[in-house]
Amino acid sequence: MEIVKAKDVVYEYIRRDEEGNIEGILKAVDGVSLDIRQGQFIAILGHNGSGKSTLAKHMNAILYPTEGTVWVDGKDTKDEEELWNIRQTAGMVFQNPDNQIIGQVVEEDVGFGPENMGVPTKEIWERVEESLKVLGMYKYRKHSPNKLSGGQKQRVSIAGVLAMHPKCIILDEPTAMLDPNGRKDVIRAVRALNDVEKITIILITHYMEETIYADKVFVMDDGKIAMQGTPREIFSQVDALKSLRLDVPQVTLLAYELKKRGVDLPDGILTIEELVKELSKCH
Ligand code: ADP
Ligand code: MG
Repeated sequence: MEIVKAKDVVYEYIRRDEEGNIEGILKAVDGVSLDIRQGQFIAILGHNGSGKSTLAKHMNAILYPTEGTVWVDGKDTKDEEELWNIRQTAGMVFQNPDNQIIGQVVEEDVGFGPENMGVPTKEIWERVEESLKVLGMYKYRKHSPNKLSGGQKQRVSIAGVLAMHPKCIILDEPTAMLDPNGRKDVIRAVRALNDVEKITIILITHYMEETIYADKVFVMDDGKIAMQGTPREIFSQVDALKSLRLDVPQVTLLAYELKKRGVDLPDGILTIEELVKELSKCH
């Protein structure tokens, strides 16, 4: 079964004046259908304002479609009785770790989610320990979150979601505010959640490099899905990506430019290792 399914989803933001009269309507999501299967690693790309966050908020019932339907683990997100079930199945991590961490101590913070769900105390502590270990943050369990780096804070936020035992985690530009090392650590942790814990990952990002390990990439433009495919299929289309105002990974671009200048290379090279291997075949 699909863990997240969207059918013909439209979402309109309605702008009103002081008296409440409608001033304008903005279609932020415009006819999106997609199927995400349990265990997949999905990346969603798109320039600013293309509708990524609005779509993501439909995946754990923060927003409901104006038209169309979203199902999470088979449950219609409009079904109010399923709200907590849906929020527990599909956890969300946002851009700014400072807005997500509320505990004074790391381990307390991670325990809040399961505590709110009514998990028995003994099990809460087991989940906190397990989640912090998975995210490589166990040794900081007694620390104050304020003293951690951005990347460490973000891993604590992810641990907090993980402690709710979700089937799916949606991350909306989780690395946008981090330095390169923090970004790497967070992406490594997210990949491990997918590989080892088999959690479905939906990663929204504008860093192309972070998407090359995805099973599938969706590219959004103007509220619509403009491209979809494997990373290799997507990054083979350098000109199409440029026309959607997106960059391609540096190494892919380098390979593309070399190919244009006559070097015999395949399309859609994603890593330096691949490029080196292909170049060593050339003479
Ligand atoms: P992205 O995450 O890809 O940058 P968003 O989903 O945030 O895109 O935004 C899509 C469009 O909806 C943009 O034009 C944005 O200005 C608009 N928008 C986003 N949030 C709101 C809001 N709360 N009220 C009105 N318009 C919004
Ligand atoms: Mg956004």
